[in-house]
Amino acid sequence: MTAHPLFDIGGRIALVTGSSRGIGLALARGLLQAGCTVVLNGRDADRLAKAASELPGDVHTAVFDVTDGPSVAAGIAEVEERVGPLDILVNNAGMQLRAPLLDFTDADWHRILDTNLTSAFLVGREAARRMTERGHGKIINICSLQSEVARPGIAPYAATKGALKMLTKGMCADWGPHGVQVNGLGPGYIETELTRPLVEDEEFSAWVRRRTPAGRWGRTEDLVGGVLFLASPAADFVGGQVLYVDGGMTSVL
Ligand code: NAP
Repeated sequence: MTAHPLFDIGGRIALVTGSSRGIGLALARGLLQAGCTVVLNGRDADRLAKAASELPGDVHTAVFDVTDGPSVAAGIAEVEERVGPLDILVNNAGMQLRAPLLDFTDADWHRILDTNLTSAFLVGREAARRMTERGHGKIINICSLQSEVARPGIAPYAATKGALKMLTKGMCADWGPHGVQVNGLGPGYIETELTRPLVEDEEFSAWVRRRTPAGRWGRTEDLVGGVLFLASPAADFVGGQVLYVDGGMTSVL
């Protein structure tokens, strides 16, 4: 097998937040298969240890809550000391809360903002402090189809993902001059725990298949290629972009 050297990320150290399951776990597996050392993150130590035990390669875990500033600062410092300097950060941790906007509570608004947006600022800033000092690094923010479009019942989620797209551009503006490339990856409808209620809703599921040019729900593995590209030297001149991996959904009416 031959691979172009521009895509070689063997030996890099990558942290994937929210990687005890779902998309984060699949991205962690993909980075391991590409030869990276990978640090898994989540809030539940047991779940994280189980996920790590099922992965091949050089896997580490770091338990911290990405919404808590002091925990993030301590977590990143500890990871760099124990595992080594981070080359790649994937800001993936996120959540969904579905409710009509008129019924959405203040507490839920702050919770979803903290988990989907503030987390990327906190973890990104902490990692970038070190990456900019070293003069290189790759940060990939997991955005969403909903960085571009909304539908009823998910306005707060769409607000967080739209803002994450702009935070990606802002990070690019601030950190690009210091050799750190920041980009986003925007998954379409992917089957995970987060979307289980939608997958199990037959009418909604059929709508997703009809509405997606690829004619199916996405699989977590569908997202791996995009992340490997954005983490590799092949993307050294790509900055502030969101790569939508959605079976074509954002391109059609
Ligand atoms: P998921 O299955 O619910 O997994 C979420 C992960 O994030 C879990 O590992 C969870 O672990 C972790 N997490 C949640 N809050 C955290 C916190 N405060 N600190 C640290 N870790 C935390 O979700 P998913 O479907 O894989 O989604 C992953 C990302 O992709 C999210 O940003 C989501 O918005 C985005 N996305 C998903 C889809 C989709 O169709 N699934 C589409 C577009 C975008 P613990 O609970 O153990 O902490």
